[in-house]
Amino acid sequence: MIIDELQMLLCKTYQIQEDVNMIFDIIKNSEFYKKVVNLEYIPESDNEIVLKNSDNLNFKCQDCIKAQSKNPFILYLNVDGSSYGPKNINKMEGEIESNIKYSKIRIGILAGLYTIMVYDNGFKYNNNKKKWENGYNHKTYNSVQELISDLVPQKYAQYELMDYRIKGSIHHELIHWIDDTLHDNFITKKINNALKDQKSIKNSLHQKRIKVVYSPYEVNAMIGNIKELKNSMSIDEWDNLTLQGMLSLLPSYARIFKTEKSDQKIRFFKDITKRMYREGLFGKNMNNDLSELDL
Ligand SMILES: [Zn+2]
Repeated sequence: MIIDELQMLLCKTYQIQEDVNMIFDIIKNSEFYKKVVNLEYIPESDNEIVLKNSDNLNFKCQDCIKAQSKNPFILYLNVDGSSYGPKNINKMEGEIESNIKYSKIRIGILAGLYTIMVYDNGFKYNNNKKKWENGYNHKTYNSVQELISDLVPQKYAQYELMDYRIKGSIHHELIHWIDDTLHDNFITKKINNALKDQKSIKNSLHQKRIKVVYSPYEVNAMIGNIKELKNSMSIDEWDNLTLQGMLSLLPSYARIFKTEKSDQKIRFFKDITKRMYREGLFGKNMNNDLSELDL
């Protein structure tokens, strides 16, 4: 399939808000979610739970119903990031499973904050003291909320507990699932091929993340995150927002886009702004002069 065809296929908008809300309610009512927001310590080995399989979800939207009949998924909730996983990769074991019926959808809560903690190495949960510790200034915190308020200058952390971020992740992953399922599993195939080329699954998943972030199917999925952010605001608030302001409210994107400068990235942003126009998501204060963006 040539890339332009792929792009055309992928510029499709799915009306899936009702099902996003349904999954959001399930997450909000889960014990796991409550543990995370109340900062009960979750050991690394337990930081992903199976929430439901899609056979048990009562989808209302046509595109979800269609995808469910072809490719049911298991819904995972975790704290360390979200991704639509290829059908036969077991992330925890790093093994290829055969004949598995379900694909996996992982919804990450607290993804950005956790990433800062894990990769930064400065923030650790001290299980003996039952407190969070900041290794840089040796301060301790009783709760994630306390820690976040101390991290406010690190703007990537402060929005992580907000509903629109979790809804954005759900919307994003459902779009990947529908795109993949209704278009010949091309995302799964692409990821599987990338994995075959790599000796270490762990490394390849990490590298994949950098590369795929600018692919056409990520443009499609990011529209889901943007829609949820817009839904969380009044029309006036949205119309006051600049593109740069919007990005700073989507911390995981802001983080990725800051890491490198490339033609790919500019192309990605052109595609995003084009799609935003078409979807009625381009606010009055947004300017499509990308040179104004701090990318
Ligand atoms: Zn994605």
